[in-house]
Amino acid sequence: MIKAPKLSNDCFSLPQGINWTPVDDALKLLQQRLNTVVEIETIPVQMSDGRTLASAVEAIISNPPFKNSAVDGYAFKGGLSAGQHCFSLIGGRSVAGTSFAGIVGATEALRILTGAPLPLGTDTIVLEEDVLVEGSNLYVNGPLRQGSNARQEGEDVLGGSELFATGHRIQPQDIGRLISVGVSEVAVFRPLRVAIVSTGSELCEPGSILQPEQIFDANRPMLQAMLKRWGMDVVDIGIVPDDAALVRRALNDAASQADVVITSAGASAGDEDYVSASLTSAGNMSLWRIAVKPGRPLALGMWNGVPVFGLPGNPVAAFVCTLIFVRPSLMQLAGAGFILPEPLMLPAAFSKTKKAGRREYLRARRQGEAIETFASEGSGRISGLSWADGLVELPDEALEITPGISVNYFPYSSFGL
Ligand code: AMP
Ligand code: MG
Repeated sequence: MIKAPKLSNDCFSLPQGINWTPVDDALKLLQQRLNTVVEIETIPVQMSDGRTLASAVEAIISNPPFKNSAVDGYAFKGGLSAGQHCFSLIGGRSVAGTSFAGIVGATEALRILTGAPLPLGTDTIVLEEDVLVEGSNLYVNGPLRQGSNARQEGEDVLGGSELFATGHRIQPQDIGRLISVGVSEVAVFRPLRVAIVSTGSELCEPGSILQPEQIFDANRPMLQAMLKRWGMDVVDIGIVPDDAALVRRALNDAASQADVVITSAGASAGDEDYVSASLTSAGNMSLWRIAVKPGRPLALGMWNGVPVFGLPGNPVAAFVCTLIFVRPSLMQLAGAGFILPEPLMLPAAFSKTKKAGRREYLRARRQGEAIETFASEGSGRISGLSWADGLVELPDEALEITPGISVNYFPYSSFGL
């Protein structure tokens, strides 16, 4: 296995004197500082669904590997001019999985079935529906182009041509394509192992009985499901109360098992914010005050050589920050490159006055060809995430949005959800 280079301990440090980092600058910094941290392994193509290619893949053979018939019909040589033509049918057939041993003469034709190799002396096939057979005479009406209904060798893929580039994530249809051209193994990156920690003394596991001051831990299961969609392996560290020693222990535990750690809550600079306090005490933390709504600071740091993404606790902010900042970062660590989604430009079905100075993401959904937004922008309103089918991105500048104005809309599918 080839070991990937490690990240440096100051990989999240921010340039001096910056108060609020614009989203684009934050993304640029993350892209520059992070690199692939997973090893490469070779696996059978059949097992490769969802995996990321670690090297480009070339076709070993062509598809089709030999000239064959696209239809059930009769094979002969040459195109036909308009009018009736007659061939003499020779005995035997060419069927899929066998080769016809003989040669078909210039005035002769042979029965052929779909997928069967074109016999020597033929290059054109007429559909069985388009002929008249009388004894050993085959009558065909022209015109018919030379090469009709024949699949040429390599017309789909030529042996030796590049099929997929490094970083491509293999889909089920790609498996079919790879196999068809003789590729049986691929070099892929080992799935990224992501540890998830929920912090907060108010949090409870789903299914347990809540005390009056408690809430269920919504973030951890939500984040786990997102990571699985992205083809990552989850290491579940559980819930950790707001306690400095316990948070440090959880970070030790997480960093020893995973390539990257995601925490939720406790990421600000408050009294009970032990994720940021721990990372600061380790000397490798940067509080990224990104000019974005929703999202309070992101606490980014290194713990025992492993990058830690400290998300805000509010589920909406945790979700949005994960899509916007954490997903491309994880993709980069996983070898897939710093993948950013492509927005669709669609007319707004809402009105809003947006102030300058920060980017905003609103829970949004398509209504016909227009985009409507969730009534509340409250960061704790988880229902809006399910109501929506994507996010609207409003630019850093001030903007007066009225119905009909084009906005950037990202369907959840553009984030791989
Ligand atoms: P914090 O970032 O710790 O200040 O938390 C911000 C808000 O998010 C608080 O109202 C927390 O109770 C809430 N919160 C924190 N973690 C979770 C979680 N895992 N699931 C649901 N809500 C959470
Ligand atoms: Mg808290």
